[in-house]
Amino acid sequence: MVSENMELSIVIPVYNEEENLPELLQRTIAASDKLNTSYEIILVDDGSCDSSQLLICDAAEKNPGKVVAVVLSSNFGQHAAVTAGLEVSSGKYVVTMDADLQNPPEEIHKLLEKLRDGFDVVGSIRENRQDTFFRKFASKCVNRMVRKLCNGRTMQDYGCMLRGYSRPVVNAILRCHEHGKFIPMLAMSFARNVVEVEVKHAERTAGVSKYNLWKLIALQYDLLTGTSVFPLRMVTCCGFLVAIFGIIFGLVIFIMSQIDKHWGANGIFALFAIQFVFTGGVLAALGLIGEYIGKIHLNTRARPQYFIEFVKGKTNNNSGDK
Ligand code: UDP
Ligand code: MG
Repeated sequence: MVSENMELSIVIPVYNEEENLPELLQRTIAASDKLNTSYEIILVDDGSCDSSQLLICDAAEKNPGKVVAVVLSSNFGQHAAVTAGLEVSSGKYVVTMDADLQNPPEEIHKLLEKLRDGFDVVGSIRENRQDTFFRKFASKCVNRMVRKLCNGRTMQDYGCMLRGYSRPVVNAILRCHEHGKFIPMLAMSFARNVVEVEVKHAERTAGVSKYNLWKLIALQYDLLTGTSVFPLRMVTCCGFLVAIFGIIFGLVIFIMSQIDKHWGANGIFALFAIQFVFTGGVLAALGLIGEYIGKIHLNTRARPQYFIEFVKGKTNNNSGDK
């Protein structure tokens, strides 16, 4: 699907953003025209209930060759919408951004320059971030967790969706069919050269954030359970700790009852100790079974185990390109 001459695809997920769309379109088209390259702006309507879909289709009609409308049948979530946009994209480089103008389209050129320099993934750091304290705090937690899950392949800011990807990385993301994808993290696992640039950040001018506390917790939970078996291991560890505590407790009771016959309330304390040992054992077993289920889960999501970036010296290859 990659066209020979299209250099840049800009993918924007849209969910109930009718107030932002006119300005978004006008500013994104103006900023992209200035880049002096071939580009397409792919707007993905993620099942909006307002007039976003109409506005997007209208923009595609009025700007042929520049704006592409992708309409999803229902609300599948931001990352699913971005994936749909990636699938339709045909540029050599892809930049994703939000529709609420918190990421100024005028910053796209910074990312494009880095992509042209050969970086696979270009992240962005929000210069004095314009969000509520709660949003910043939640974001800090997600950033920290993602950094841990990425095994040290670190980026400062995973939350900012103004990001750039090279075609091989986009293709790799598209080969991952698992649900609950977190694209910045997935991209990170396939990238060789990553870099972050500082970009401006504005307050949401219209509409409301689509992420409430519950959605943020769900996202965090999805991330954790979707990418690692760490929580299951914690259950196993807790189980072993409780069992060890039970054994020590039992020993203490035994020693104390030898010193003083009345100590230990006629064996009731000993029952507690036995209870601890069994509870610990059950927890450890639960974690262990969970670990196997986790392995099945990792295998069934069928993520490719490797991704060939390119092959040199072979004439009839088409890997690295769709
Ligand atoms: N979005 C989406 N589907 C959703 C939720 C959000 O396509 O189910 C889009 C939304 O229209 C916006 C982007 O994802 O373009 C980021 O959403 P938002 O600005 O509400 O997130 P925040 O900036 O509060 O993290
Ligand atoms: Mg936003």
